[in-house]
Amino acid sequence: MKLYSTLSRQLEELPPPPGPIRMYFCGPTVYQRAHIGNARPFALGMWLRAWLRQRGYDATLVHNITDINDKIYDAAPGASAELAAQATQWYLEDTADLGLGMPDGLPKATDSVLSIVGFIEKLVDAGRAYEAGGDVYFSVMTDPGYGRLSRQKVENMEPEEASALKRAPQDFALWKATKPGEDTAWDSPWGKGRPGWHIECSVMAEDAFGPVFEIHGGGLDLVFPHHENELAQSLALGHDFARIWMHNGLLMRGGEKMSKSLGNDMTIRGVVDAWGREVALMLLLSGQWRKPLDFNEATLEQARAQLETFRNVFRSPSEPVGDWAAFEAALDDDFNTPEALAILHGWRDHDLLRRAFAVFGLESIADPDEAPPELVALAGQRQQARAAKDFAEADRLRDEIEAAGWRVRDVDAGFQLVPK
Ligand SMILES: [Zn+2]
Repeated sequence: MKLYSTLSRQLEELPPPPGPIRMYFCGPTVYQRAHIGNARPFALGMWLRAWLRQRGYDATLVHNITDINDKIYDAAPGASAELAAQATQWYLEDTADLGLGMPDGLPKATDSVLSIVGFIEKLVDAGRAYEAGGDVYFSVMTDPGYGRLSRQKVENMEPEEASALKRAPQDFALWKATKPGEDTAWDSPWGKGRPGWHIECSVMAEDAFGPVFEIHGGGLDLVFPHHENELAQSLALGHDFARIWMHNGLLMRGGEKMSKSLGNDMTIRGVVDAWGREVALMLLLSGQWRKPLDFNEATLEQARAQLETFRNVFRSPSEPVGDWAAFEAALDDDFNTPEALAILHGWRDHDLLRRAFAVFGLESIADPDEAPPELVALAGQRQQARAAKDFAEADRLRDEIEAAGWRVRDVDAGFQLVPK
């Protein structure tokens, strides 16, 4: 199986099964109901884990919760811990409702502070980081390869935040001294404070998997500075860290990146409530994971139509048409889900289709449609009328059922009701 890696800018072959394949996908910063954009890396990680297991791999997925961050302090001055706890709960509920199961580990930054402090101490001892005014910064000039992931030259990089305490503008904070208004703080050798965002993920990933693992994932907007810095921190301690870096394309709305600041926000909760989880998942599957994906009413409507096409196959008799090897080849080639869906559109074998949709948490497509009980009763009366050769009455009952939006089909076992 091959996957594209941002680090090498090429397709990378996975080791043969059983691996292991250990995956760390960056999770949300919890300060509001999660944006639908957060559903893409979540679903990608869960689908990839399911596929790898299907292929005989020992696959594990760890997905972190960033519950210490400037955004949380800004969103709830004086009550950031309460907001983070509430928003973590929302995220777990909303992603559970996608029906894909849950990752093997969901570490929180707040549970990892002791490890984070230990990691920063090692960086300071190794001369790769320095304390200044209660903050600790990573020294970018000690890393000649810095910029290896985002392929930027240090002098062209946009510094994250200006500070007179930094030796070089591109240095980034590993530890931040407590500022007025911040209601959470932890003890450290440098005084009270809290970790920077990037070091949280280096430590949570290594706490889960050790100093080297197979896949690191996250949105394309995390390549720089977040992942560049995670990689620099871990390499600085001689740890290889992730071998393959997967960055999913962003969700767009009308060609623009969806974000809170642009005012075109959609939450996972809102989309699942309004459209159902199957439509949301079908839309995510319809795009290659590396490419941007238009997520709006029109594309949701197309996904709904696509689901209906698949449902119709399950409403028709099963035929032995389907080629598992072709499906496998599409997913093994950089996890090409749109290609896999195109292949599934040609299948008529219900058992095979059910097995394929199970990889994507969509086996519910195969569930028979449930008609309202009064229509089931009418269809039963129609069947009796037919048996009694009262075809006028049978036709009248069929018209009544059709007027209610359902079609009655005669099958060996009696009848079947399907939506029109
Ligand atoms: Zn991260």
